Amino acid sequence: MTRRADARSYDLDALRDRVMTERGGSVHDSIPQLADADPGLCGLALALPDGTVRTSAQADVAVSVQSAVKPFLFALALLDTGGDALHRIGIEPTGEAFDAIKLETGTGRPPNPMVNAGALLTAALVDGDDVDARTERILRGLSAFAARDLEVDEDVARSEHLLGDRNHALAHLMRAEGTLRVGADDAVAVYARACAVLVDARTLAVMGATLACGGRNPVSGEQVVPTEVARDVVSVMATCGVYDGSGRWMRAVGVPAKSSVSGGIVLSVPGVLGGAVISPPLDEQGTSVRGRIACEALSAELDVHVFGARAR
Ligand code: GLU
Repeated sequence: MTRRADARSYDLDALRDRVMTERGGSVHDSIPQLADADPGLCGLALALPDGTVRTSAQADVAVSVQSAVKPFLFALALLDTGGDALHRIGIEPTGEAFDAIKLETGTGRPPNPMVNAGALLTAALVDGDDVDARTERILRGLSAFAARDLEVDEDVARSEHLLGDRNHALAHLMRAEGTLRVGADDAVAVYARACAVLVDARTLAVMGATLACGGRNPVSGEQVVPTEVARDVVSVMATCGVYDGSGRWMRAVGVPAKSSVSGGIVLSVPGVLGGAVISPPLDEQGTSVRGRIACEALSAELDVHVFGARAR
């Protein structure tokens, strides 16, 4: 079956020009560094299984990764716990905000790894005896997904740690339930630093492509996580990745994705491509306005809606 447009020759700058006419949404203001984001930023990238990376203008402008780190934290937690993380976190969508102070009834587990409770736990489950060791492990792991050395924006990490009251509340709640076994403040510190890792659209697209390629980074050739881990992560991105708008996203875009409050969206189309958009103004659910429009266009024009079989 031929795809409508070929990702190899798709004009990302033309798509960027189209979405730049959209002026809606507002930047997230939970921390000063996000409130200062450039609302005019828009970078797009696609990464293909043969290692080709295609980019638009501004695909090299970095922002803090924020929630787009969650699929990769889940992957690292699955890897480092030998799959045990799957028993310690639910995988059901919540229909609630990403930072809802709520755990699974009956088990006290986080509802899924794509909301803050789950990501606080996955960040605590990676190998390492203290905050620095776990942060280092996460940075190494994320860098393997990205095929380049990533770093933490320490100012962003400090703000996240200082101002993340809901994350502190969630960590304490998980301690009280016995689900979180490291100190609450340590858990928030590691998660805050994971959210503060700097990525651009090019990097995020390669990370998404690594999940889309069964855990093998198409740029470096490294098998970063086993195929089953990549499959588990992409499955949960599909059902829970776009906050409480995951159902609408799946119908309209049809591509497993994770959005973030810095305006990033990472895409993984199994076997086909990884992609990313970074544009800070967000809609009411916390998803990038231009990112959503760009992803809908990419899905339709590249014909990659995972449930969009053509009539035969
Ligand atoms: N660091 C943010 C928080 O924990 C991430 C939220 C997001 O991107 O959805 O609130």
